[in-house]
Amino acid sequence: MKQLSVYRINLNDMDGDGSFPCPSCGILISPDDVSEETYKIIDMETYEDGTLKTLSLMCKKCGAKIVLEGFEILRTLENS
Ligand SMILES: [Zn+2]
Repeated sequence: MKQLSVYRINLNDMDGDGSFPCPSCGILISPDDVSEETYKIIDMETYEDGTLKTLSLMCKKCGAKIVLEGFEILRTLENS
């Protein structure tokens, strides 16, 4: 069975526009890119109020699974 790599990225550690390089192959993954050329959303979890909890992506280049977390920071920003 093929070992599946899972990488976790916390938005709180990110700056700029929220784009980041794939931790496995280095291709730039941008949340503004909705063409699904570089990544595909495979799963998401939300809180009861609809705030994103985690977002799971798959890098289309290398197949790595990337779990984004820390979306609470967005909710904090919106309420301030
Ligand atoms: Zn990759």
